[in-house]
Amino acid sequence: MNYQSTRDSSLKISSAEAIVSGISKDGGLFVPECIPAFKDGELKAMEGMSYPERAEAVFSKFLTDFTKDELRNCVKNAYASGSFETENVMELKTLSGTEHILELWHGPTCAFKDMALQILPHLLTTSVRKTGVEKKVCILVATSGDTGKAALEGFKDAPGTEILVFYPENGVSAMQKLQMITQEGSNVGVCAIKGNFDDAQTGVKKIFTDHEIAKKLSENGVMFSSANSINWGRLAPQIVYYVSSYVQLVKDGKIKMGDDINICVPTGNFGNILAAYYAKMMGIPVKKLICASNSNNVLTDFLRTGVYDRNRKFYTTVSPSMDILISSNLERLLYHLSGGDDKYISELYSSLSATGRFEVRADILEKLHELFYADFCTEEETLSAISDTKNRYDYTTDTHTAVAVGVYNKYASSTGDSTPCVIASTASPYKFPAAVLKALGDNNNYADEFEMAEALNKVSGLNIPKALSELKKKTPRFTQSVEKSEMLPAVYQMLGVK
Ligand SMILES: *Cc1c(COP(=O)(O)O)cnc(C)c1O
Repeated sequence: MNYQSTRDSSLKISSAEAIVSGISKDGGLFVPECIPAFKDGELKAMEGMSYPERAEAVFSKFLTDFTKDELRNCVKNAYASGSFETENVMELKTLSGTEHILELWHGPTCAFKDMALQILPHLLTTSVRKTGVEKKVCILVATSGDTGKAALEGFKDAPGTEILVFYPENGVSAMQKLQMITQEGSNVGVCAIKGNFDDAQTGVKKIFTDHEIAKKLSENGVMFSSANSINWGRLAPQIVYYVSSYVQLVKDGKIKMGDDINICVPTGNFGNILAAYYAKMMGIPVKKLICASNSNNVLTDFLRTGVYDRNRKFYTTVSPSMDILISSNLERLLYHLSGGDDKYISELYSSLSATGRFEVRADILEKLHELFYADFCTEEETLSAISDTKNRYDYTTDTHTAVAVGVYNKYASSTGDSTPCVIASTASPYKFPAAVLKALGDNNNYADEFEMAEALNKVSGLNIPKALSELKKKTPRFTQSVEKSEMLPAVYQMLGVK
């Protein structure tokens, strides 16, 4: 299985090369040249497998240049080493007969990003070895809050790597910020920028694709790679949990093999829902992919009208990890839907970078309508989704999951569709305690996030994750904040490059 760039299909590289480079030199993203399908009986066979075994089965289709042993080591180190709180790695909770919450936040940083970022360092160091790269790999991350911490945890003290994270100074929750600035490890760096997530992401992408910078780093024995969901090594692990949840629903007798499901995903950079699309294309019977946005509803508009227009007001919301106006992974979907038309994708994305806007062809819009349903929740609707879910099912969700629950309810009532739905739950409510408490009618003032966590524990009955309560004892290590134009000097400084 080869990988090609969305902006140049003549480029063909192995999965290890795609994972090491992160993004293509032409600015495009790497995609598999074809999407592998499950053969008869393969899904059935997965019923008896553990999560790591299911992961290995899915990876063996995409990472064909990895040996069986390499894959087995990667999945074992990531998913069977005790870093997830539950043995199953993910958990499925059934709210009603048709609503199934897929909890993806039992990893060390309490957000779904761990599902991929616990394994990415293993995939990456294996890929580095396989491709014979002898440089130190510098992972550059732009984060809207959760990726940064998950990447730091995944890569801390990973041999031959250095990791630098940029986050928007006022765009992450207090808990998220604390998680990042107290990060331990000898190869880590964290820096705030005076800007929003899109500024951070654009800055990182620019540094990444600049040939002069690459040359200078190379002379210093360093190369860049990415832990953002532009890296294929982030996406492949996300396909696993959609496949696994289907298999699990069958195993648990909630559906029969072959039955349709819907999948609803709280969406920002379009990585998580794109993984659900890949699972569908591999043969998981998914009727609709439901794309849930917050007030930054650029994707809702796009999936309805075919016009992507980022020239709009940017909102800072209670679901900060979805406060994004440039959804990078959409490029991969459009590449597939255009039949691999690299010229067309290059045109769309040069238009996006020049004017902030593009419009897709009618045939692509038709396919989008077939595949997706899209809607969004306002801030008020997000908070009501939290209280409704708590009242109806005694289940407490975080703000991002609440956006998905709210949009799913809009979908179900406007279409009457009662197909079982897997709703991706992307973070523990303890990562956003202030907003969750407010939604549950608790407007008390607490001294800090830890008092809020105690209060949330009382109302939700959920255990406070140890990784969060332990933050209280940690001292901040990284307090630097720079202008968005000063990211490169910050990178050089952190790497000790003059
Ligand atoms: C990153 C994140 C999202 C958005 O996922 P994308 O793959 O960027 O679409 C949603 N919820 C939470 C909690 C996240 O951390």
